[in-house]
Amino acid sequence: ATPTAVMVATGVGANNGVLIKGGDALERAQKINYVIFDKTGTLTQGKAKVTTVKVFSEMDRGEFLRLIASAEASSEHPLAKAIVEYARHFHFFDENFLSEDAQNNREEFVQSGWLLDVAGFSALPGRGVQCFIDGKRVLVGNRNLLSDSGVMIPNDVENFVVELEESAKTGILVAYDDNLIGVLGVADPLKREAAVVVEGLMKMGVRPVMVTGDNWRTARAVAREVGIQDVRAEVMPAGKADVVHSFQKDGSTVAMVGDGINDSPALAAADVGMAIGAGTDIAIEAADYVLMRNNLEDVITAIDLSRKTFSRIR
Ligand code: ADP
Ligand code: MG
Repeated sequence: ATPTAVMVATGVGANNGVLIKGGDALERAQKINYVIFDKTGTLTQGKAKVTTVKVFSEMDRGEFLRLIASAEASSEHPLAKAIVEYARHFHFFDENFLSEDAQNNREEFVQSGWLLDVAGFSALPGRGVQCFIDGKRVLVGNRNLLSDSGVMIPNDVENFVVELEESAKTGILVAYDDNLIGVLGVADPLKREAAVVVEGLMKMGVRPVMVTGDNWRTARAVAREVGIQDVRAEVMPAGKADVVHSFQKDGSTVAMVGDGINDSPALAAADVGMAIGAGTDIAIEAADYVLMRNNLEDVITAIDLSRKTFSRIR
């Protein structure tokens, strides 16, 4: 293609909210064989909602929610936001205590004094959070986080989590003082266009893949809903780039679509990295394409644009 054609295509992309960082990226997109999608925030809306709260101890629901919201208040993870949001609503309806500002605003809620003091907070990417409240360790996250921290997961709890996962929900386990005290179920609906885009890619001869840090059962349930057969689950953030490399081995051209900090190594490793515009700055920086409309149809738009630009002129 002539430099003019590339410039025109880049402009057409920009008009459609598809920002392309350079002619090389535009050219590579025509050859894409695989599109690897991150799950949370990419295939799904990233608007997780707590659907289930189950306390497995004497603690009452309010206390339980206060504890986990306190632990998650400093995390930026979509799951953490969902938990804090749920606790805020629960607390408002339960006690009618919150000021009007705090009812409407997460930050105000966090500042409202209802949450407990937290020491030694750490976010464990792909696993959850850990902190100390009243000198006791609090863990909120997946089963690997809890079992690797030496927390016993009783059978009834495990069965409950499995049930959640089979209905495409993420189960979040909570330990206080190294005892399992409860479980949350979180649902994150698919983007409306996700299934159509997956089907469209297959029609174009491009193979869709899903990669996620979430557990296998939830991952499979979500993949089934969206029509993706090839799934990689329980992948730690650094592992997502390895997944990209594994698809590149036979000389295939691999696109990665993601939104999170944990996707940025994979976005950089891919032949074509595509960041969701609503995603984190780090992901946007690592990508070759930015999909400003946050609509997955633009993955197809991007491939089409490249194919048209580079076939017409030859
Ligand atoms: P994804 O690859 O789907 O974007 P992540 O790698 O961010 O997912 O997280 C993987 C899993 O780690 C989540 O499904 C959840 O079980 C757990 N997790 C991560 N962060 C948190 C958190 N702040 N609170 C609870 N669980 C978390
Ligand atoms: Mg994500």
